[in-house]
Amino acid sequence: SKPVKLSVHLHPYGEGRSLLLSRDITAVEQAEAMRRDFVANVSHEIRTPLTVLSGFVETLQSLPLEVQERQRYLDLMAQQALRMQTLVNDLLTLSRLEGSPLPTTQDWVSVQTLMAQCEQDARDLSGLLWTRPQALRFEQDADSQIAGSSTELHSAMSNLIGNAIRYTPADKSIDVRWQVLPDGGAVFSVKDQGPGIAPEHIPRLTERFYRVDRSRSRETGGTGLGLAIVKHVAQRHGAELGIESLPGNGSRFSITFPAQRVRENVVRH
Ligand code: ADP
Repeated sequence: SKPVKLSVHLHPYGEGRSLLLSRDITAVEQAEAMRRDFVANVSHEIRTPLTVLSGFVETLQSLPLEVQERQRYLDLMAQQALRMQTLVNDLLTLSRLEGSPLPTTQDWVSVQTLMAQCEQDARDLSGLLWTRPQALRFEQDADSQIAGSSTELHSAMSNLIGNAIRYTPADKSIDVRWQVLPDGGAVFSVKDQGPGIAPEHIPRLTERFYRVDRSRSRETGGTGLGLAIVKHVAQRHGAELGIESLPGNGSRFSITFPAQRVRENVVRH
């Protein structure tokens, strides 16, 4: 049987006595509370860039500015607009993922193609965020294929790689690997030498909008939805998301695919 969640409070009753009142918080109530939290979070996430954006509009309207100064404001405005766009895109992706239990398309997707796309995106992002890009290493045991949706798989993989790039200092390295397991399954993993994550945060990382360091996430263009997306994509592909991390020791995020989802194409070594 499922554990019942009770809300308990003490109600004063007579002289020096209290009555213990308890109440079952039903699943319906919990779902409703989660929905309210989500709407509040989304509103807050949209309001922040919107406020900044309107501030810049006002400045542009009220101050006579040099061309250069004007350009600077426009660039900052473009940044905020992009931030809202990214957020709305992630929200739509998440709602699509939650809407159906299976990937919309089912194909045999080439891991080599996925890795090549991810590697290109990774080099672009690292170059954009850091003046000295990190050492990025991509390694593949075999050219496997995964049964599923290439869009979803690409989104999950690039989210994990993107996080590693965003949270790892420039002089460190990042290892992206595809390893075939003895049982026929396979693991996609991203290992970084970033700050690591304290154990108490790890179980909550895949919650929507949960961030360990809010300002670090925002500075680097994070929406707080990346790992929620990764978890959904993994589940829909019968795969499991693993997180191993220790503060000061970097992190390793992995997606383990079961044998029935993986088949080998051409062995390279
Ligand atoms: P965000 O857009 O904030 O990165 P995610 O859902 O992708 O959202 O990640 C949630 C939080 O997990 C991040 O805000 C960050 O605190 C933490 N995190 C994710 N990946 C890493 C990593 N590679 N190293 C350290 N912290 C990470």
